[in-house]
Order: sequence, then C-alpha cells, then structure tokens
Amino acid sequence: MPSHDVLIIGAGLAGQRAALAAADAGASVAILSKVHPVRSHSVAAAGGINAALKPQDTWESHAYDTVKGSDFLGDQDAIEIMCREAPDELLHLEHIGVTFHRNDAGELGTRAFGGASAARTYYVADITGQAILHVLYEQITKYHETVDSYEEWFTTSLVQDDEGTCVGCVARDIRTGEMELFNAKSVILASGGNGQTFKPTTNALICTGDGIAQAYAIGAPLMDMEMVQYHPTTLTENGFLITEGARGEGAHLLNSDGERFMEKYAPNKMELASRDVVSRAEQTEINEGRGIGPDGGGLYLDVTVVPRKRTLEALREIVNIGKDFAGTDITREPISIRPGQHYIMGGVKTDVHGQVPTVAGLYAAGEVACVSVHGGNRLGANSLLDTLIFGRRAGQHAAQRSRAMPMPTTPTSRLRQDLEHIDAIIARDRSGRRISEIKDELGTMMNRNVAVYRDADGLATAHETVRRLKEDATTAYIDDRGTVFNQDVLGAIELGYMLDTAQATVVAAIERKESRGAQFRTDFPERNDDEWLKHIDISRNGDDEPHVTHSPVTMTQWEPEERKY
Ligand SMILES: Cc1cc2nc3c(=O)[nH]c(=O)nc-3n(C[C@H](O)[C@H](O)[C@H](O)COP(=O)(O)OP(=O)(O)OC[C@H]3O[C@@H](n4cnc5c(N)ncnc54)[C@H](O)[C@@H]3O)c2cc1C
Repeated sequence: MPSHDVLIIGAGLAGQRAALAAADAGASVAILSKVHPVRSHSVAAAGGINAALKPQDTWESHAYDTVKGSDFLGDQDAIEIMCREAPDELLHLEHIGVTFHRNDAGELGTRAFGGASAARTYYVADITGQAILHVLYEQITKYHETVDSYEEWFTTSLVQDDEGTCVGCVARDIRTGEMELFNAKSVILASGGNGQTFKPTTNALICTGDGIAQAYAIGAPLMDMEMVQYHPTTLTENGFLITEGARGEGAHLLNSDGERFMEKYAPNKMELASRDVVSRAEQTEINEGRGIGPDGGGLYLDVTVVPRKRTLEALREIVNIGKDFAGTDITREPISIRPGQHYIMGGVKTDVHGQVPTVAGLYAAGEVACVSVHGGNRLGANSLLDTLIFGRRAGQHAAQRSRAMPMPTTPTSRLRQDLEHIDAIIARDRSGRRISEIKDELGTMMNRNVAVYRDADGLATAHETVRRLKEDATTAYIDDRGTVFNQDVLGAIELGYMLDTAQATVVAAIERKESRGAQFRTDFPERNDDEWLKHIDISRNGDDEPHVTHSPVTMTQWEPEERKY
C-alpha cells in the first residue's frame, strides 16, 4: 500500500503548489490526478493573476476590492492573507521561470481587470494558467526522490479511521482498472470545481466536483454553494470563454441598438464592473429584447476598438477561439457572447491553513475549497492567486502536522465497498437511462433555473429534478465493461458527484432569501445584511440529505456598504 506523509488529490495549480510546499518542508508526498497534470483545468486560465506589486498600489486596496467584489460575504482575514502574500508569490513564480509579460521599459506589465481599482493583473499573453502550470510541473521533477506522481489515477473515496480522521483514499489506476488504497498522515484535496454540473460551461469535461462530493460524503461542510459565477463573455453558440482580458484591453459590450449598455448599469467601471454586475446587465438586455442573433440570446463584444497589433500580441488565443469556434475574426468584427457558467465561489469549508474544520487530517485548497476569499462573487484573476496562496499554505501546514505523527493504519473496508460499487455499475442491464442523457438534463436544467436570475418556483423545480435524476442515476447503465481506460465507469461515478454538489447548490440557493453577489433572487431583489450577512453551510449528517446551518462572516476592517461600480 503506498504510504506518504502528505497525499494530494489533484494536480492543477493548487495541487502542484501544495506538493512543492510540502516537499520543501521535508514531507514525502503523493500527488494524484485523473488526467495528466498539465491537462488540469488550470491550464485553460487565460487572463492573468492579481497582485498589488506596483509601488503605488497597496495590498489593502486589493483586499478592499476583493471584499467589495464578494458583496461583503468573503472572510476578511483570509482575504487579507491572500492579498498581503500575493506580491511575493508572484515574484517567486517569476524567479522559478514564469515569463510574465514585460512592457517596453522592461518592467512587469499589467492589464486592468473587472472590479479592480488599479491595473494589477499580471499575465503571459492569454495563456497565463498554462505558463504557470508547466513551470510548477518542471519544478516538481526536482523532487523525484520525495514526490511520487500518480498520473491518470482516479480517486473514488476518502478514507477515515475509527475516530473519523482522514487517513487516505481509494483510487483506480485508469490504465489498468486496478483499485488501490493510499495511506497518508494528511490528505489535501485540490480537485477543482464542478462546472460540468451546468450546460454550457467554460469548464473542462473533468470539472465534475469529485473532491467536493467526496468530502461532503465523509461529513465535511460545504459553504457558499449557492454562489455560482456566470462569466459575462462566453461564446453564444457553445459557452467557450472569451477572457476578461479582452475588456481589460478596452473591448466594448454592445446591444442590438449598438448602445454601450453598461453606461446604464455601472457608469464608472463600465465593462470592468464585477462579473455578477456585468452578467446581470447582459441578461437584462437580453430579457428586455435588446439581444442579437436569431433568438436574441446574445450581445456583441467589440474587440475591434483595441489596436489590432495589441490584440494579436496580447489576446492571440481568443483570436484563434473566435476563428475556430465562432467563425469570427475578432480583430475585424464584433463577436456574439452571453453570460455562461464559469466558476463556483463555494466549496469545502476550510480555515486559512486549508484545514477542514470537522474532519481532522483533511485539507482543501483551490476551487474545490471555500476559505472564503471570493464570497458572493470572485474578481477575475483572483482564482489563480487563491490556488497558489492557499495551496502553498495547505502544503506547508500538512507537512508540519505530519512530522509529529506515526503513519496511520488505513482500514480496508472502503476499498471493498468501492470495488463492489463499480462492479454493480458494470453489471447494470439496459433498462435504465444513459449516463450522458442524465448529465445533459442536469446541466440544461441548472442553466435554466439556477443561473443569473433565480426565484422560488425555478429553484423548487430544480430541487425536484435533482432528486429525480439522483434516482435515475442508480440504474443508469454504461457500455464499456472492460478494465483498460474505462472512461464510461468513471463517467457514472462523476455523475453521482455532480448530482450531490448540484443538490447542495440548489438547497443553499433556496435557503438564501436575498440577493447578494452571484445570487439574484427576483422574489427577494434586495441585499439584506440584517438577516443574511452570513455563510450557508450544507452538510450530510450520516444520511443522504443536505442539512443547512449558518456561520458568521469574519470581518476585520471593512464594514458592509452599498455596492456601486
Ligand atoms: C476557461 C477558464 C479560464 C480561466 N481564467 C482564469 C484567469 O485568467 N485567472 C484566474 O484567476 N482564474 C481563471 N480561471 C479559474 C481558474 O483557472 C480555476 O479556478 C483554477 O485554475 C482551479 O485550479 P485548481 O488547482 O483548484 O483545480 P484544477 O486546475 O481544475 O485541477 C483539478 C485537479 O484535480 C484532479 N482531479 C479531479 N477529480 C479527481 C479525482 N476524482 N481523482 C483524481 N484527480 C482528480 C484533476 O485531474 C486536476 O489535476 C479560469 C477558468 C476557466 C475554466
């Protein structure tokens, strides 16, 4: 049985940063990923990463913008840590080889991003995530004696000892179908978000909320799950992301009358207001009949106002995406976009060291976690920062915790249960529905009822549908009964994770009877600090039902105020 001080599940930016930090602190590390590490969704991050690095900028200004962006739901102690540690982290990345853009004077160049009062987004053209992920992957090879990389291994469950401490996981070698028990003193979840719960989404096919559901299954609370970010610019046809960097470089949003409609909604920040504000403005324009295209479901993003040379240099990836996926040359004509699912602010509740409060030995960092630095709405370019800061902190803390303890003995019962579960999926006859059919229904339904605008009726329909689909999933069948690269069986397991996390989102959205950040309830259109300035925590107390509790928002120096852009 593989035994390590620190077991990390997920090899995107959060997982790799945690692995480097734990290895640096002298721990033996295992890092597991269901895809090759550099295919993690982090590789798709385009626009950049925030840090108050310029002499005239301050971490307090970055922190205030983040608090305001969060609609005052973010925990201010965690936000302070993230913004204070950002400049050093960015310089560290540069020193280990990330080739951030430099301006003609040779200084690190920035672009403006939404909701920020200063241009503090650092970038590598529009492939920032790829650039950072590859550098971290290279760095990890230096630690080949202490870091074991399990590439294309799929975790099916977290394992607890008799006291409830997390002591490892069960995982399947995707290449052979073999199941293995991993033993560890500390476990860090870095397994990303659950964007695939919505259709369309900007997220990769692998973003199915596995870690969120696995932690939830063993008693970890999920926090702020109602807060789902819709990005203002995704391709109308297929949901592909057009980076916020486009608006950061000066692109305009236009309705069918050719009007720069953001003047009405955010006269000061215009296209660079917070994402929730811009997405809502777009949805209002569409709903009121000023959309474009055959069904009026899109709006124009006009990048032609950016000098062509600059677009070709700084936004080359979206020039390609426009050509390949919408048949549009964005340097010459506007492109049709609409708001689309992009990110979840919620996740596994943690403290500022990444520790999950109710499950000893378990940590979470990155999009899987909710620490919470994003609250009701994440600012663009703050997620890459979140993955690195809290990935590092979790890695360091877990290494330190593990130093003082003996290797635990991991019980084998969970391995047996997971083997039986997989055998049962493979053995199902074809009387049920197809996995892909259920997944499609889930995504389309969530995008209809749990999107930019929500109300009690839509959310009740969503809850009913999720319950029915959970039932359908118990008999859903697969075609591939083999052991080698059986993606079919993994798809069936992932569907279960998506349904569990979707249910938590719907239950939390029903619970929050106000409008804050990404949650806009047309039946409760105002923010209500008296009753709802608090987190919603969802947990499973040993049964399959979501239980709702509330927890306070940590405030340090910023009192809630009206949010205007
Ligand atoms: C298109 C796009 C563009 C973006 N652009 C930006 C940007 O410019 N700036 C910014 O700040 N943010 C951006 N974001 C958000 C940001 O990229 C993500 O939130 C962040 O990269 C998530 O990193 P992570 O390490 O938490 O997870 P991921 O990068 O998603 O990695 C998850 C890892 O977990 C593994 N995993 C998952 N389940 C299992 C399992 N069951 N078993 C084993 N392994 C598993 C996966 O294989 C993967 O290695 C963007 C997001 C998207 C989708």
